[in-house]
Amino acid sequence: MALKKLVAGNWKMHGTGADLAEVNAISLAAETAPCDVALCLPATLIERAVRAAPGFAIGGQDCHSADKGAHTGEISAAMLKDAGALLTIVGHSERRESHGESDAVVRAKAETAMAEGLSVILCVGESLETREAGRAVEVVSAQIDASLPPAATGKTLAVAYEPIWAIGTGKVPSADDIAEMHAALRNRLVDAYGDAGREIRILYGGSVKATNAAEIFAIANVDGALVGGASLKAADFLPIIAAGAA
Ligand code: PEP
Repeated sequence: MALKKLVAGNWKMHGTGADLAEVNAISLAAETAPCDVALCLPATLIERAVRAAPGFAIGGQDCHSADKGAHTGEISAAMLKDAGALLTIVGHSERRESHGESDAVVRAKAETAMAEGLSVILCVGESLETREAGRAVEVVSAQIDASLPPAATGKTLAVAYEPIWAIGTGKVPSADDIAEMHAALRNRLVDAYGDAGREIRILYGGSVKATNAAEIFAIANVDGALVGGASLKAADFLPIIAAGAA
């Protein structure tokens, strides 16, 4: 049976108070959406967004693996929770690449976030070099095996498959390639968690737009999307949400 889809926006380093009107418009649409909807915002906006859109799922984009400590510029899972976040992304390729985050670090972040009561969107994905070498499934399977926290359910974890070369580029893998990767990820999740692994949503991320969302959502084991650029404006994001009927 198809899982209820999750369409999550990742605003990255975009958004100030002036953009709360977009959060509001998206949260209103979420009330009648055919799928679950969330927005992962810059930390500075979380509390204001939660106040502006009570009940709407606001998340962070990263958290530290430690509960607290001497980590200048970092944010803890407890701080996200305290600001009103319900979820957080961990292991986004922009963090893995520019902050050198290993699978072990991502796994520790996921564990800490879950212990704090946040649900987690855990990202994996291959480089163009890996894809062209024909090693995408092998490499992403190893990445997920090493990044998964020891326990998870469909309520506490979603996995986002985001090919690095598709993020912000307008390029999208073929439907067959997405289906192959999502089937491999489903197998890894069932191996790790048994039947609970069938309830964990596997999102696709990388240049999802209003024009390709329905086609991507129709692929087996695609249980939603993680959306960057097209989540910043309600006018772009709402048609993607509308396409998320299971
Ligand atoms: C992302 O960075 O998570 C992402 C999917 O970005 P975009 O939709 O802009 O490709």
